[in-house]
Amino acid sequence: MKRFHLILLLLTLGGAAFLVLLLYPFISSAKDSTNLPITTWGVQWIPAGAPEDASPDLDGEWLSATVEHPFDAIPKGKVGAWIHLTVPPTSNLSKPGLYIERLYAMNIKIYENGKPVYQVDRSFDFERTLLQLPLDHTEIASDLYLRLTAKERAGITSDVQLGELPENSRQAVRKELPNLLLGGGFVFLSLLMLLCSWYLNRAQRSTALALSLFVMCSGILIMTYSAMPYYYFPELGHFFVFIFDTSIYIMFPALLYFVIHLFEGRYPWIKRVFRWLVVYYLISFCVMVCYKIIGSPLYFLYAFLTLWLGAPLIIGQLILISILAFRNAMQNPNSLILSLGILILALSGVTDLLLMYAIDTLRMLNLWKLGIIILIASLVMILNRRIASDYARLLSYSKELELYNHQLQRTEKMEIISELAASIAHEVRNPLQVTRGFLQLLSGKSVEHDKSYFTLAIQELDRAAGIITDFLTFAKPELDTLVELNLQHELAQIETMMTPLVLLNNGELEVHVPEPQIILGNASKFKQALINIIKNSIESLHEDGHITINAWTEGGTAVIRIADNGEGMEPEQIAKLGEPYFSTKSKGTGLGLMVTFRIIEVMEGTLEFHSEKGKGTEAIVRFPLVSNPSSKKSAVVPQ
Ligand code: ADP
Ligand code: MG
Repeated sequence: MKRFHLILLLLTLGGAAFLVLLLYPFISSAKDSTNLPITTWGVQWIPAGAPEDASPDLDGEWLSATVEHPFDAIPKGKVGAWIHLTVPPTSNLSKPGLYIERLYAMNIKIYENGKPVYQVDRSFDFERTLLQLPLDHTEIASDLYLRLTAKERAGITSDVQLGELPENSRQAVRKELPNLLLGGGFVFLSLLMLLCSWYLNRAQRSTALALSLFVMCSGILIMTYSAMPYYYFPELGHFFVFIFDTSIYIMFPALLYFVIHLFEGRYPWIKRVFRWLVVYYLISFCVMVCYKIIGSPLYFLYAFLTLWLGAPLIIGQLILISILAFRNAMQNPNSLILSLGILILALSGVTDLLLMYAIDTLRMLNLWKLGIIILIASLVMILNRRIASDYARLLSYSKELELYNHQLQRTEKMEIISELAASIAHEVRNPLQVTRGFLQLLSGKSVEHDKSYFTLAIQELDRAAGIITDFLTFAKPELDTLVELNLQHELAQIETMMTPLVLLNNGELEVHVPEPQIILGNASKFKQALINIIKNSIESLHEDGHITINAWTEGGTAVIRIADNGEGMEPEQIAKLGEPYFSTKSKGTGLGLMVTFRIIEVMEGTLEFHSEKGKGTEAIVRFPLVSNPSSKKSAVVPQ
């Protein structure tokens, strides 16, 4: 969670930095002294049907407009407006020019003292533009008349700046560049994401595709919302408007799809809503395309679907996504991040609208871009978190699999060893018995002098048979009778047995068993198992060797810990413990721990090793405790 807070902090800082970047041009241009703003101008509406080359009615009604009251919405029955600007003398400027940052019009015609000086005609539906108009040097003030026609808005909504033209265009580029860079950055990012989604699996790819589509559409929207591309590349205007509209149709379904996939089918009805929305967007898209081709007759349908139905639907979707996110917010961090992202987007949108009404100078919407950045950042964060968690799961699976494989191999080897041991032991034991019988027979008939040889031979034969029997029982420990063993008692015996060997190796042995603990087992097998472990500890000791044995109770289990400060083991060595013939000693057999593991397993216990090279080793043995012991009872284990 700490990393999460850090990321949030970074996001906030990044957002603040971006805000400064966006607002910087507004702040810096306010200080600009080379420009002389023209703050008031006259507005006269052009009635429908007025000829294009008709001049304005100079004696008619002129509205006095300012940035605060720009009169830019075209009233019913009008097609545009005449704007009258009085331009002060320009003789003190080296390259005089007029710069208007925001002007609404599709067709612009400008007359200076009655002469036409500028004309632009747009056929695409984007009314906002900027204007840079070179002027002549004049000693006296001149009159400029701008004929602006459009569908919805015609007029000037920003200050009109009179100044050096190159300086003004530099200002214009400076103001718009952050937006274009931001939008371009988003599109680039989305292309990268699209490319990278190739490496994902199917389920992840669809989410990644939805996310990259959303990012791409946001980028396109930001770029094509700026007036700059339309001004400098008017021949691509139709294309820009087309991708602007299309982006809106794709952006919101993509976002919804992403959110639905994130909450993985918790609400099936949302999927149905989503399908209907996709149908709506498809229809709207087709209508938009038809409208672009056919033109005005389809305007009503286009406006109905896109403007009147579209806006509430977008708001509805955002609300739906917010509700979904909030309902899930407390359940996992992903939802919390998403709800934060969506909340910030919604808030920035609302703030944008409020600012637009409260402070007229900020009529261009800017904050929603910040909202989108934060939302995208949160979405990318979620995607990454999902990938990370998938990867972690994969890693744990593969670890489990490896462990399982290892155990399987060990079990298989053990089976083979057991079978081999059992068969060899059987095969060898019988001839030994026969030989022993004959030796006894011969011994009876032999002279006194030879008798001692026969006795020695028989003794050695018995020893060999004993070893074989032991090996047989170790390899296949059949604990036919289980009795209750008191660990306190058993470990005390083991201490007595092992202490001389420890002392011989210059070590110390300590045993602490504070309370009696009763387990089920076979006393000699149990001792054999523990002695194997302790012998290994003894063999690992250097000078000042120390071996401690503790036993305690944990819930329903008895725990025995055998710890030494010997040479310790590497992790690879620990992994091999219990495998037959694994030994690092020159005279080792590598069978001791194999037998130990078998015995403990048959007694339903577990054995684990912790070790550090050079520090020492601890072996932890666990056995289930007998819940109500009756010290003399013995049980027969069902085979
Ligand atoms: P052996 O004792 O005949 O080598 P074991 O099965 O008893 O066979 O032990 C296998 C190997 O495990 C040993 O050779 C040794 O490398 C390692 N080992 C077991 N216990 C310890 C220990 N307490 N300290 C260091 N190494 C150990
Ligand atoms: Mg050993």
